[in-house]
Amino acid sequence: MKKISILIPAYNEEAVLTLLYDRVFILMNKLSNYEWEVMFVNDGSKDNTLAILYALRNKDNRINIVDLSRNYGKEIAMLAGFDYVSGDCVVIMDADLQDPPELIEQMIPYWEDGYDDVYAKRRSREGESFIKKKTSQWFYSILKKTTKINIQKNTGDFRLLDRSCIDALCQIREQSRYTKGMFSWIGFKKKEIIFDRSPRAAGKTKWNYFKLISLAIEGITSFTTKPLRISTIIGSIISLFAFIYMIYMLLRTILYGNPVAGYPSLLVMILFLGGVQLLSLGVLGEYIARIFVETKHRPTYFARSFNGEKVNQNRH
Ligand code: UDP
Ligand code: MG
Repeated sequence: MKKISILIPAYNEEAVLTLLYDRVFILMNKLSNYEWEVMFVNDGSKDNTLAILYALRNKDNRINIVDLSRNYGKEIAMLAGFDYVSGDCVVIMDADLQDPPELIEQMIPYWEDGYDDVYAKRRSREGESFIKKKTSQWFYSILKKTTKINIQKNTGDFRLLDRSCIDALCQIREQSRYTKGMFSWIGFKKKEIIFDRSPRAAGKTKWNYFKLISLAIEGITSFTTKPLRISTIIGSIISLFAFIYMIYMLLRTILYGNPVAGYPSLLVMILFLGGVQLLSLGVLGEYIARIFVETKHRPTYFARSFNGEKVNQNRH
């Protein structure tokens, strides 16, 4: 019998877990020709999430629980899940029921047909603010123009991945992770299905604009070095203009003398160039910071326990 793992990262999700379990339970019983595993990754929750998970596991031993040593963020929680799942394929899902478990039933036939990555694309972004829609649109178009890999639009982490994809993803152990880009980067045979994303069933979102901007920078800097190229090009263009302007000023002074003026234009130029320089330094810094973090070769995360048993920290 083939085994399907459902991977669910959970951070402070006490309000929604039993609802989630009920929906997943129905699905697992319906598709009883597969063996099931539900892998919860408790990402350092500060509420009762872990206790609720253990209570669920007491009822149903198909539930497995990885308890991380602190909050690492969803991207790293997913990596921990990849390390622990044992299924022939893995479905990644949010805990808050925004990704309807029932859709898994539609994903499985494609997987059986030989697709390795069946991803769910949102039909619309209803219920999101105009600004959020616009900014995400810009982000995707920047990413698409600067990276060579094609990152799927309006698609989250909700997808079914074959074992071969999971084994590939387990080998990518970067600290600053943009998993959505990795799904594209690893390649494999992909299939798109469309769905309507529901609002969060209960509890609060952990996202805010600051996190979103960080993830966007993460996405760009971990997949392309184009920003460095752009600052080189801008620098060259400005230098070229400055050089031409200098020749012009020189000739004008020689031919017509120098009627001192142009204080405002001087100030504007200094401010402008100062801005460009700081921006380029920032871009450079982003990449150096990544080199710094990665060269430390720290383990990406530590798990406290797996199904209640202590984890050997030398595992990775
Ligand atoms: N999550 C996590 N660690 C975090 C933040 C979020 O594991 O530090 C999980 C969270 O429990 C949920 C999923 O990531 O299962 C998506 O989070 P959320 O619903 O808050 O994000 P949104 O859907 O609003 O983008
Ligand atoms: Mg959500």
